[in-house]
Amino acid sequence: MTTNLLNLDATGLNDFFAQMGEKPFRARQVLRWLHRAGEEDFDAMSDIAKSLRVKLKEKACILAPALLSDHAAADGTHKFLCDVGNGNAVETVFIPEEDRGTLCVSTQAGCALDCAFCSTGKQGFNRNLTVAEIVGQLWLANRALGFVAREERLISNVVLMGMGEPLANYENVLPALRLMLDDNAYGLSRRRVTVSTSGIVPAIDRLGQDCPVALAVSLHAPNNALRDRLVPINRKYPLAVLMAACRRYLAVAPRDFITFEYVMLDQVNDRDCDAQELLKLTRDVPCKFNLIPFNPFPHSGFRRSSATRVRRFAEILMTGGIVTTTRRTRGEDIDAACGQLAGQVLDRTNRVTRSRESVPIVEMTP
Ligand code: SAH
Ligand code: SF4
Repeated sequence: MTTNLLNLDATGLNDFFAQMGEKPFRARQVLRWLHRAGEEDFDAMSDIAKSLRVKLKEKACILAPALLSDHAAADGTHKFLCDVGNGNAVETVFIPEEDRGTLCVSTQAGCALDCAFCSTGKQGFNRNLTVAEIVGQLWLANRALGFVAREERLISNVVLMGMGEPLANYENVLPALRLMLDDNAYGLSRRRVTVSTSGIVPAIDRLGQDCPVALAVSLHAPNNALRDRLVPINRKYPLAVLMAACRRYLAVAPRDFITFEYVMLDQVNDRDCDAQELLKLTRDVPCKFNLIPFNPFPHSGFRRSSATRVRRFAEILMTGGIVTTTRRTRGEDIDAACGQLAGQVLDRTNRVTRSRESVPIVEMTP
């Protein structure tokens, strides 16, 4: 079987080349061709000896997910649909801003965590994406946006906020993160790579040890009673446990705050008293809040809080001393906003017959 080189981080490539009896600098050269130059053809790797290229063609391949579609919104946002095989497809979104370009990357085909307000969650879960499929979204976007051809490096930030729960796919997310940070690959700053999690506590600790990057935690409720309903993983890792994990993470994080994401759901979690309770909850956790006006999708059963309500909520948090921003919805005309990414997922969880009360099982590798 051939090895897909996009599945390997620097260490993996070193091992692969060592097994072929090649020196580590060869691995480094190929890493640069793959990720910096966005190359997919071994023959174009001009500084690699021809004999080695022949060997590579026998033993290896360069296989990113195929691009199924690229929708551009009026505001310059692009939504890519990437084929990940067997009838599954995931979405990736590029969001250009004046001072940066952010790529929102998916980590799973679907999501098993079933948050009440999330379109991805409603789709069910099929499988974890491979390293090549995660990092391949960056590889593909750089090409599709013309950055490879123009030798531009306009993706300055990556957020793992697309489809799926990154920390439920830790094994593949970790090498993908390492490639994003590697100077011979994408060379992004740790502060500009953000993992967003619904709160899988043991994996937050592991991330802090293995590869600390910026952390966003999807909070969405100020107490366990409400969070149990909105974010079911809370039944396994309740708020006190989650807040303690955030504090531990801050000791090693590249930033000195945690970002709490908070989806604003009309009359569900958006009252003044909810904001006040949040101030108490997060008293010991240096943080910023990012309020996300709910992005509706068919049959969600939730409504977006009014702009006045969101402003008032933000004011209370800010008066309490927390820097609070409200996420501007981008790419609305192409359904590219948070929580609207649906892709194409063949559900394997048999969710209809599953008890809605059951706590989702998250598989973690040791
Ligand atoms: N699974 C991870 C990352 C993907 S979701 C997580 O839950 O954090 C990225 C963000 O979008 C999360 O904060 C999520 O709660 C939020 N989100 C999900 N559905 C949404 C919706 N319909 N409207 C607005 N935000 C939503
Ligand atoms: Fe999964 Fe995140 Fe959606 Fe929850 S909000 S279902 S964790 S993708």
